[in-house]
Amino acid sequence: MAKKKKEPVEIPAQDIHIPIRFEELIGHGAQVASISRGLERGVLPQSLLLTGPAGVGKTTLARMIGAALECQSPRPGACGTCGPCRKAARRLHPDLREITFERNDKDKLRSEIVVDQARDDVLEPLALPPYEGGRLVFLIEPADALNANAQNALLKALEEPPAYVQFILVAAHAGGLLPTVRSRCQEIALQPVSAEEMTKALDARGVIAEDRELALAMAGGCPGLLEAYKDKALLDLRAGLVALMGKGLEAAAFPDLNPVLEALAKEPPRAVAGLALSLNRDAIRVGLGLTPRLHLDQKDALLAAGRARGLGGLQRLADRLAEAPAQLNRNVNPRLWLDRLFLVP
Ligand SMILES: [Zn+2]
Repeated sequence: MAKKKKEPVEIPAQDIHIPIRFEELIGHGAQVASISRGLERGVLPQSLLLTGPAGVGKTTLARMIGAALECQSPRPGACGTCGPCRKAARRLHPDLREITFERNDKDKLRSEIVVDQARDDVLEPLALPPYEGGRLVFLIEPADALNANAQNALLKALEEPPAYVQFILVAAHAGGLLPTVRSRCQEIALQPVSAEEMTKALDARGVIAEDRELALAMAGGCPGLLEAYKDKALLDLRAGLVALMGKGLEAAAFPDLNPVLEALAKEPPRAVAGLALSLNRDAIRVGLGLTPRLHLDQKDALLAAGRARGLGGLQRLADRLAEAPAQLNRNVNPRLWLDRLFLVP
């Protein structure tokens, strides 16, 4: 079978520097401490699975681990200044391989990682030792986009990788992976970062006090979303969700809500579910007479939503939202999914 030769790494704009030192990560102190111990003692499991919501820092942490493994003077994280670190920071290190969606024959980005890619980008290069004598690191992101064939093809490699290989799988939910893959990986779950640490990060970026509440609300504990408060489309998405929570049970409101549902159906369902869950949690808090944790600026609208649905209704909505990830893995129609979430008591 003829195979076209591929570049080892897809290189983005070369002047981009990515954070590679653990000190640059926002939050996740406990996870970093445990990874650092593993690195120091040389007992870091060779197949890691980093999970957590979008923007929480999974890929950033994965790259930091990769850089630490290549660094010439690790402490135990990457030093940031040696030759391998400088290459890692520019994403030019030949032994730090990133596997993600690739383009198909029609130059469209695929929606899954297929078995040919697993074979060409992981299993074949895996047989050769690293170019630079450090580790050969395979960062697969999003790993829950590996289709079943691709996951099965990787099983043996994940189970018994060559000594010079490190796997770092990155996925929103471990549930998106086959149990056989999960059981071969050590999972490190990243939780949303505390408001205190997020506020520090906002201050460091010079975000003014007036914008802070909204910025914290929109980021929902995910440092990758610290700029989301400037995103008009995302603010519209939140306004749409608040409207659905408040008026979804009123038949008379349907003509107004229909375009909202149509618009939401075009957004990534996981992002919609995540934002809806954080709004719903706050609506429950407001209903109980507590202060919203994140969406302070939506307090009145959330109170109205709580009155319309009742606390029981909000709790049922929370249950439906909690089931969302599992349903979304089954190719559910987004519009139907939204209707069943918001238009029922
Ligand atoms: Zn270094």
